[in-house]
Amino acid sequence: MNTAPARRLDPAAAVAAPFDVERVRADFPILSRTVHGKPLTFLDSGASAQKPRQVIDAISRCYEAEYANIHRGVYELSAKATEAYEGARARVQRFVNARSASEIVFTKGTTEAINLVATSWGGAFLGEGDEVVLSVLEHHANIVPWQLLRERTGIVLRVVPTDEHGALLLDAYEALVGPRTRLVALTHVSNALGTVTPVAEIVRIAHAQGALVLIDGAQGIVHCPVDVQALDVDFYCFSGHKLYGPSGIGVLYGKEALLAAMPPYQGGGDMIERVTFERTTFAPPPARFEAGTPSIAGTVGLHAAIDYVASFDPAAVAAHEHDLLAYATERLSALNSIRLYGTAPGKAAIVSFTMDGVHPHDIGTILDRAGVAVRVGHHCAQPLMDHFGIAGTVRASFGLYNTRADVDRLIDGLDEVREIFG
Ligand code: PLP
Repeated sequence: MNTAPARRLDPAAAVAAPFDVERVRADFPILSRTVHGKPLTFLDSGASAQKPRQVIDAISRCYEAEYANIHRGVYELSAKATEAYEGARARVQRFVNARSASEIVFTKGTTEAINLVATSWGGAFLGEGDEVVLSVLEHHANIVPWQLLRERTGIVLRVVPTDEHGALLLDAYEALVGPRTRLVALTHVSNALGTVTPVAEIVRIAHAQGALVLIDGAQGIVHCPVDVQALDVDFYCFSGHKLYGPSGIGVLYGKEALLAAMPPYQGGGDMIERVTFERTTFAPPPARFEAGTPSIAGTVGLHAAIDYVASFDPAAVAAHEHDLLAYATERLSALNSIRLYGTAPGKAAIVSFTMDGVHPHDIGTILDRAGVAVRVGHHCAQPLMDHFGIAGTVRASFGLYNTRADVDRLIDGLDEVREIFG
């Protein structure tokens, strides 16, 4: 374990300090390693972000000094672990500005959070002919759970299209939402294109028709400020690992009254009030939805990750990411064999592209030899790829620690691809 004192995370001080990307990079040990003998250029934060020392140390500390199972021990260590677990919940509550900590349910990640809502809320309250509105931008995690629910209940799925830039067509959305719409389940930020959807407007239109709104915030929580009360979303889901925290931990935010009315998702320890062989009564939320031993160290890591992210001035981070996006877009656009997908205004720092005559997997493999890690393929968004009539793209997604030099190395790698494929 690194015993050097962690950089003090003082939000007030950080707000005053300029965003120093080299200092940020120094927080991420993995960025100093090489790949195939080349410095690592990590451009796949959209799939999973790297972890700062502060998160790694918090997890190590948890296992080295403060670990025990939670909620059921009377001894000191268990009390400490419980305090850390519930402290993480309170931290998430403040981070997304939920009204109460009991509106924060810990899950494995975004996928489990959406499945929880589909199974529990959808199973209890939706029936044949009820409509759920999705969009063509969705990740499979926000499509398949609703299809599984459709098989069980006969709900109808409606899909909002996008324009050629990948922007959600708001008029088409408004036309799709009607008296049979019970839920709108849309992404905040497209993982494949970077499109940012207008959540407040989406919610206003859905609520006017009496429909609830679930937002898949797997990417949104990383690139956008999220205030669940201001947005008035009913459910908001995200994963720790994309937010510089550990994998295996995520969050379902749900309005208190909705969670209180929902039946359990899974049964087991910690989610009950009283069990007899005849009958079981259930704990109130959030415990009702957290059956079994959770990722205790995961919540500690998530807490540290949120502290880390919150230590930066959000405007400075946004400016940094915007600069990377603008620079990458400019440099890629200058290559005439490249076609960009996803050019909606105000998008997040994700670029997706194809190169004439070269399969994305070949591009990814050649870039890897140059130390450049990008994601290639359908990005778990096959309907979106179908919409554009392509099998996949190359995607570079940027994080706090990326620099213009990373973009330059991507472009150098693409030059090599062009040389090889002529
Ligand atoms: N939704 C979006 C927009 C995503 O980008 C992802 C992951 O890439 C997910 C959902 C699924 O997240 P997880 O695999 O962490 O559950």
